Amino acid sequence: MTPDISVVIPVYNEEAGLPQLFARLYQALDVLGRPYEVVFVDDGSADRSVAMLREQYERRPDVTRVVVLARNAGQHKAILAAFQHTRGRYVITLDADLQNPPEEIGRLVAQLDQGADYVGTVRVSRHDVLWRKAASRLMNRIREGTTSIRITDQGCMLRGYARSVVDAVNHCTEVSTYVPALAYTFARHPVEIEVSHAQRLVGESKYSLFRLIRLNFDLMTGFSVAPLQFFSMTGGLIALVSLILVLVLLVRRFTVGPEAEGLFTLFAIAFFLIGVTLMGLGVVGEYVGRIYEQVRQRPRYTVAAVLGGENADGGDAPRLPPPAAAAMPAALPGVTVPAGRE
Ligand code: UDP
Ligand code: MG
Repeated sequence: MTPDISVVIPVYNEEAGLPQLFARLYQALDVLGRPYEVVFVDDGSADRSVAMLREQYERRPDVTRVVVLARNAGQHKAILAAFQHTRGRYVITLDADLQNPPEEIGRLVAQLDQGADYVGTVRVSRHDVLWRKAASRLMNRIREGTTSIRITDQGCMLRGYARSVVDAVNHCTEVSTYVPALAYTFARHPVEIEVSHAQRLVGESKYSLFRLIRLNFDLMTGFSVAPLQFFSMTGGLIALVSLILVLVLLVRRFTVGPEAEGLFTLFAIAFFLIGVTLMGLGVVGEYVGRIYEQVRQRPRYTVAAVLGGENADGGDAPRLPPPAAAAMPAALPGVTVPAGRE
């Protein structure tokens, strides 16, 4: 039977919080009284997460699927991997650390029932460290100004999508992306609701400052060419002003004579221009990097195993390959292996 609701949860080293998640999530979904499935995607965890997900699959095989990635691909790529294995009319994404209360799922589903095909969320009182909240506010503002994506709180991953939107996302082949933004570009009736937010119960955030910056680069360069335009325009403006300065100095050279004191002004100007050029180069590099990633056409992630789904209906109980086999490309679907090596 096609489930009404598919809940997608990326899991990366979350062993400490999984028991609580299982308890609250399944309880919250059971009370909705609608057919559902939970698709966990293990994003290359090194702790007991995979074993715990397998135990949960054995407890509730009817409504559980587990996609195990061979390596850590990142939250958004992991979600894309899980999307490929969802069957529900609606797909809800949720973090594994219970910062998004699973009890809110019903409210997202209600919006989807009413015809929305994208349910965004705004965290009313966000429980994260101060610098993260400030950085998010800034990034939200920059994204509002430079892209056509209108989402109030881009960081909240508790979101609902209709099947049509998920299918469209599944057709996208770009390597790195930001799922809520990509999905938004396919939505015809997006809505937003307010949801509560809790502190991370156990464990710590999997995002370092560097990973957050990378993620925001994906968002900015993936959905806007504004950074490029900004640099070409300011570059042009600075070149024009410098040209005027050169002309002024040239005229001065013939009327007043050479100016020695101006030497340091020139240094300053030169350094300023070098700085601007380097930054501009960096921005161009971001885009070239994305193009490079794209033309290589490497798979975004490699799936080591899938528990549940089609296999579950058949006789054989699907088993996870031993860790050594999981790392071998030959075991992975979608990866071409030269003849003779299989
Ligand atoms: N996550 C993941 N892969 C990663 C990083 C995070 O699957 O490389 C998962 C993580 O297990 C959690 C969710 O993404 O379920 C959000 O991560 P986290 O809570 O660390 O981020 P934060 O809430 O600090 O933004
Ligand atoms: Mg979190």
